[in-house]
Amino acid sequence: MADIRVRFAPSPTGYLHVGGARTALYNWLYARHHGGVFILRIEDTDVDRSKPELETAILESMRWLGLAWDEGPEVGGAHGPYRQSERQERYRQVVAQLEKSGAAYPCFCTAEELQARRAHAEAEHRAWKYDGACRHLSADEIARRRSAGQSYALRFRVPHSGTTAFDDQVFGRIEVSNADIEDFVLARSDGHPTYHLGVVADDLDMRVTDVIRGADHLSNTPKQILMYRALGATVPRFAHLPLILGPDKQRLSKRHGATAVGAYRDQGVLPEALVNFLALLGWTPPGGKEIVPPEEMVQSFELSAVSKSNAVFDLEKLAWMNAEYLRHLPRERLLPLVEEELRKEGFRIQDSGFSGRRPEAGRQDPGFRIQDSEGGNQKLEIRNQKPEVRDEIAEVRRQHAASPAHEREKFERSVLLLQTRARSLKDFVQSGRAFFSDEFDYDPEARKKFWKDAALADYLDALAARLEKAETFDAAETEKVLRGLAEERNLKAGLLINASRVALTGQGVAPGLFEVMAALGRERVVARLHRAAAFLRNPSAGNN
Ligand code: GLU
Repeated sequence: MADIRVRFAPSPTGYLHVGGARTALYNWLYARHHGGVFILRIEDTDVDRSKPELETAILESMRWLGLAWDEGPEVGGAHGPYRQSERQERYRQVVAQLEKSGAAYPCFCTAEELQARRAHAEAEHRAWKYDGACRHLSADEIARRRSAGQSYALRFRVPHSGTTAFDDQVFGRIEVSNADIEDFVLARSDGHPTYHLGVVADDLDMRVTDVIRGADHLSNTPKQILMYRALGATVPRFAHLPLILGPDKQRLSKRHGATAVGAYRDQGVLPEALVNFLALLGWTPPGGKEIVPPEEMVQSFELSAVSKSNAVFDLEKLAWMNAEYLRHLPRERLLPLVEEELRKEGFRIQDSGFSGRRPEAGRQDPGFRIQDSEGGNQKLEIRNQKPEVRDEIAEVRRQHAASPAHEREKFERSVLLLQTRARSLKDFVQSGRAFFSDEFDYDPEARKKFWKDAALADYLDALAARLEKAETFDAAETEKVLRGLAEERNLKAGLLINASRVALTGQGVAPGLFEVMAALGRERVVARLHRAAAFLRNPSAGNN
């Protein structure tokens, strides 16, 4: 299909809703699949409810989802302007054309008159549709009322007989009897275009070939087709997307939880996970695959594989999908996301992990060197062992541990370690807090379970003392030290491992203890073990 042109047309009267995002995504996929053009149009004719800041928020959400538009606000294009508020003159021309050909007529009925007739019909249990009171006014009568200054709306003259039919790309053939369609309003008495007028005029001017939108617009389609025909224009193809329901099978709303795309972003959901999740709300990829990266989606997306059955918005599935994407996220994408999350939560981070102390410049060669081996572990290489050098060793070790490069290393190791079990970006700042800050609480459940033994305080102090002296500080060495201590003291290693985990992370469940130690680094591990020991001896003195 050559020259496909589709559009997403949100109204800036609210944030981008997940349903709107799904519509935008399907349009985008369809355009990309066919090498076509994806247009973004802002339908801001509701002057009271439309807000520029909401338009900004919608564009921001679209960008976050990765749904770049080829024509529209900010990027321009040959068929603009792309905001309906800037197209008023064009609507006046279109409605004048329809009036001239007799396809539209002025209606002088006031709101009160219409209301009274509607109430009357309802009292008699008759369904109300506009009764055509002004449909047959003579040219003279119209001229007379106009010159008397009576205000009027313009209505579309729907044929009384025949049917209007179309082949929806999702719902199949739809046929409506024209007698069931009322003479709908195109322009209100204050001159404002209605949705029907704006959407048809714009889709025509923007050369839209396929209208892909929510099934809630199905009933609007016959009216719009009648307008295209009255204008002598080619009718676009239509595809209506199934409704999105909550788990209780009611239409998705705030009652079911967040509906705005931005809220999912704030909850730590990745855009690629949300996009994948939304794609499956109505579309089944070939082979029923669930995890489908964007390139693959573009390649295999077909409207013929979109179902007309309502889709259910399942938060559990989104959480699962988010964890899947998070686990496989490349580190160069994950690291900045976690940093952003930490900043948002007010963690004090520089370009590295913790805000560490800076090393002093221009020190003398102290006769030893601490090297970062692969994986960020420290290796102490001693070239001279004079007694006064011992204190120096401790000092340089301290400074080295706090150096920006080393901090960065530890930060990255911590992120990668937490990545294996994270379900949301929030996990990095919540359960993973101790990896990025010295200020964290001991989880009461974990304390109850793993800090029962009163002797633990002494063991934790002893472990700290040994780790301080350990020659290297990697997972293998720390494990050797801990197991050695447990054996000497006739303790189960598990007891010490669990107690240490709470001491180091505040949590009863965390990645493997020795990996955690290596990620945190010697200084922090030693300090935290002592801190936990002190806490165990005197819990009322507080956590930190
Ligand atoms: N502004 C309309 C909406 O938000 C778009 C309707 C259409 O796509 O025709 O529902």
